[in-house]
Amino acid sequence: MIREFVECESPSDDAAAVNRFVDLAASKVAGSAKVKTLPGGRFGKHLRCEFTLPGRKKEGQILVLAHSDTVWPMGTLSTMPFRQDKGRLWGPGVLDMKSGIVFFLFAMRALRELDMPVQRKVLLQINSDEEVGSESSRPLTEEAARKSNAVLVLEPGTGLEGKLKTARKGVGDYSVQVHGKASHAGVDFQNGASAVVELARHIEKIAGFTQLERGITVNPGVVAGGTRTNVVAAEARVEVDIRVARLKDAPALDRKFHALKAVDKRCRVEVTGGLNRPPMERTAAVVRLFQQAKELAASLGVEIEESATGGGSDGNFTAALGVPTLDGLGGVGEGAHASNESILVNRIADRTALLALLAAGRLA
Ligand SMILES: [Zn+2]
Repeated sequence: MIREFVECESPSDDAAAVNRFVDLAASKVAGSAKVKTLPGGRFGKHLRCEFTLPGRKKEGQILVLAHSDTVWPMGTLSTMPFRQDKGRLWGPGVLDMKSGIVFFLFAMRALRELDMPVQRKVLLQINSDEEVGSESSRPLTEEAARKSNAVLVLEPGTGLEGKLKTARKGVGDYSVQVHGKASHAGVDFQNGASAVVELARHIEKIAGFTQLERGITVNPGVVAGGTRTNVVAAEARVEVDIRVARLKDAPALDRKFHALKAVDKRCRVEVTGGLNRPPMERTAAVVRLFQQAKELAASLGVEIEESATGGGSDGNFTAALGVPTLDGLGGVGEGAHASNESILVNRIADRTALLALLAAGRLA
């Protein structure tokens, strides 16, 4: 099934391809879940599966989050085909996160076939736009999370040990645009106000907003400006990625961006942007959830650890609502978004078993 999923390519920006993958995933749970699709706007459709599982149900539910889209353009399979080699499965999206979805489907199948009692309703939501910001899925994720006792996220684990993720930084972006005044660099130099020079002053300052010890990083990642060497530049801009470990640091950082003022008064600085994904903070409830997972893994003879990452996921949204969220429960491997994307075959079984126990257990 992992091969079948990887070979059904599903880049975020190709709605028809994502929909094909969603239909494939839905076909795998037909008969064992109530399946519903939800519109994804300009992206593919989202999928919700409510599994029919053994046992009497308590109030509440367990929400499991996945995404159907990948960062790989259509046709990547021709240069990066699915293959099994050196104890791994390789291919675009195998780690992020098609294997995670397969693990979970098999975990549900195991609970049904072994007739293991499951304490709460289990809802799997597969979003189609995670790699491009989750704009249309975010409200659906939040709505489902509010009814949930815990959220499990099928993103890859950290490193070749497959550590679970108990903290993720919040992610945002800013665009800082400088409007200057164009002039001829030879004939009329003094009349120009260079947006490029003005922007250079601000880039240095923006980079200085980083505070590594507080988990705040500010990366001026893309700059553009000017038209020709013999023209004093009228426009220049920088696109900046920001990460914060704590939600309470975001407003102060936002104030710093908005306090940027032109040094050359003939220029004007315009700032847009902000935080897109709040941080997933390592709260006491998250730690409790991790401890339960650790004990369940130990019962399978597997030792698992926790980790923090600068990358975001849909778990950021659910954690920010105060719903205990555990992430990184999917494939164990390396190379997400890279040409060496792969998962370890010998970690498929224990991950699947852990997901089954987590979904069945008395979470939160
Ligand atoms: Zn992912």
